[in-house]
Order: sequence, then structure tokens, then C-alpha cells
Amino acid sequence: MAATNKPSRTTIRLSAGSRRLFVAIDYVCLAGLTVHACFIPLFWLLGVPLMAGVNVAAVAIWFTAKLVNRRGKLDLAVVMIKLAVAAHATLAVTKLGWDSGFHYYLWPLIPFAGLNERISPRVVFIEVAALFVLYSVLFWFTREIEFSSAFPQVTRSIPFMNVGVVFTAMGMAAVYYRLATTAAEQRLKVQASTDELTGLTNRRRMLEYINEELKRIRRSGRSATLIMGDVDHFKQVNDKYGHQAGDAVLIEVAEQLRASLRSQDFIARWGGEEFLFLLPETDVNGAQIAAEKLREAIRGREIDCDGRKLRVTMTFGIAPLDSGSGIDESISHADDALYQGKKTGRDRVTLWQAADVTPAGA
Ligand code: GH3
Ligand code: MG
Ligand code: MG
Repeated sequence: MAATNKPSRTTIRLSAGSRRLFVAIDYVCLAGLTVHACFIPLFWLLGVPLMAGVNVAAVAIWFTAKLVNRRGKLDLAVVMIKLAVAAHATLAVTKLGWDSGFHYYLWPLIPFAGLNERISPRVVFIEVAALFVLYSVLFWFTREIEFSSAFPQVTRSIPFMNVGVVFTAMGMAAVYYRLATTAAEQRLKVQASTDELTGLTNRRRMLEYINEELKRIRRSGRSATLIMGDVDHFKQVNDKYGHQAGDAVLIEVAEQLRASLRSQDFIARWGGEEFLFLLPETDVNGAQIAAEKLREAIRGREIDCDGRKLRVTMTFGIAPLDSGSGIDESISHADDALYQGKKTGRDRVTLWQAADVTPAGA
């Protein structure tokens, strides 16, 4: 399991966005309870036992929030964290004065609210407005309180320590945001280039691969080959066993085709039961061997379909990726060869030839 999923098995039931939040809450709680645990001796040293006691309670609240989060109650954990931070900042500033800098802890509540996809922008706005009011009221009533203790050096360094902790929290929020957007972009990228049913490359992405390959062969003069494969009599599978069974067969066929290819070759679901292959650095003779391997793999595979064992065959048409003719024409040549294979009996591999198309080995 990935490191980010480590906190609990609860993550399994969460969506990607919530899982990210879950992990973030878990670490925030750990950081929160560590900071409050450090505050206990600090406040004791400053001669404010009440705040030391408040921090004992704060540690308990953060610890409980961590447990609540691990039980999958993310929203409750978030509310507990927000209230704990706001209450602690209010109490500390009221007791020690504005100059102590404990009001800085209200700042990270803004990204904490804004980056949480589970609350609406309206609620975020209300929370930020409430924070502004709290911040202003605290400023108004506490700025005259003198911040002092028996240890002036410690007193002087506390606002810096508070700024340091808050900067760290804001930095972590920025990193969280970047990870979230990068993950979302990556997901979209994969979705945009993948066929939903089979998980193979889709037509759009395959055309990009072919285009890149065409540029490469124009530069290097090397050859690349296209293979168009089509499941034979697939309509009958649907008619006999239903569309869902047809889908299951397509998934199995796609898996088998992918497993039978070299890792440097490309395969796409081109249409319904049609698959297009791009074999870089391969001439038509090499492609013929590859296509025969694919054909054998498919016809030899028994597909389990609702307890019934099905077998299907495929016909393949081969044509070179021709830098002169271009992509559309090369694909259409592979298509022509496939059509010829269908006409001459199916379950075979056919090579495209400039004048006409002849069965492989003929
Ligand atoms: P041929 O051997 O000539 O290729 O015959 P065929 O029956 O395979 O070809 P035809 O073009 O007549 O029919 C293709 C069938 O593939 C019809 C269509 O319903 C089915 N099909 C296309 N896409 C899907 C899909 O995503 N799922 C399922 N279940 N069936 C599909
Ligand atoms: Mg077909
Ligand atoms: Mg077809």
C-alpha cells in the first residue's frame, strides 16, 4: 500500500479527494498534538498554569480528532480541529496579550477551510468572515495587555516561535494544494487517453503516438508497422449472450492482446471490437509474426462468460506506417488488408500490398 494510505484501512472506503483530506487531517492532528504538548511546559514556565491546563485539554482534543478521523468521520474531526485552534488562540491572546503572537494560529484556518473540497465555497466564505471578526475583536481588546514573564528572553522569542509554526503550517497547506492539483491533472490526463471499457489507449492518444512515430521514422528512415485487428462475428456474441457478455469478452480480448505484445509496441481500442497496433522499428515481416502470435493467443483463449466458455477469433490486417502516404492513408491500408482477410474467411493475418492485398504466406 502507498505511504500516503498508511494511517488506516478506513481510507479504502474514501474517494480520492477525501482520502487526501483524511491523510492531511491525520498529519495535522499529529503536528497539532505535538505543538500543544510542547506548550504545556512553556506556559508553566511563563507562569500561566491555566494555559498549561488548557493545553493538556488541547492535546486530548487533537488526539480525539485523530481517532475520529480514523473512524472515517472526517467532517467532525475538521470541526474539532477548527474549534480547538480558534479557542486556543482566543484564550492565549486574551491571557497573554496580542504581542504574544498566538493570534497567528488563526491564519492557517483560512487554507484549512478553503482547500477542503467537502465544504461549499459559501461555508468557506462564512468561516473566513467569522475568523475576520474574531481576529478584529481580539486585536481590539488585547493589544493593550502587556506580554511579559519572569524570563524576558523566552517571552521575546515566543512570537517568533509562533510565526515559525504558522509558516510551517501554511507551507504544508501549499504543498498539499500542489499535490492535490497534480494528482487531479494526472487523473484527467489518464482519463483523456484511456478507453473506459478495456483500459487500453484510446483512439485520440493512439493518433498522437502514431504521429510521434511518423516523425521518428521520417528522421531515421526506420520502419514501423500498423496492424488493424477485428473480432470475428462479434455481433453474434452480443446477440447470443447479451451486450454485457460482449463487453466482458472485449475486456478479456484486450487483456490477452496486451499480454501478447512486446512492451515497446502500442495497442489501442480503435472502435467497437476493433484494435489498432503500432509496432515501432518493425517491418511488415516482423509485424506478420507478431500478428500471428496475437491471432493464436486469441483463438487459444477460453473466455469464461457467466459460467459459459466462449472462444472468439480475430482477423488482422497489416500495413507499413508510410511516411509518404501519412497517417490516415496508412491506417486505411491496414483496414483494407483487414477487410480482405474478412472476405477470404476470417481468423487470419493479411498483408496490404500497393496493387492489391494478398493473404500472408500466399
Ligand atoms: P465481422 O466478423 O465481419 O467483423 O463481424 P462482426 O459481427 O464482428 O461485425 P459487425 O460490424 O457486424 O458487428 C460488430 C458488433 O460489435 C456490433 C456491435 O454491437 C458490437 N459492439 C461494438 N462495440 C461494442 C461494445 O463496446 N460492447 C459490446 N458488447 N458490443 C460492441
Ligand atoms: Mg468484427
Ligand atoms: Mg468491426
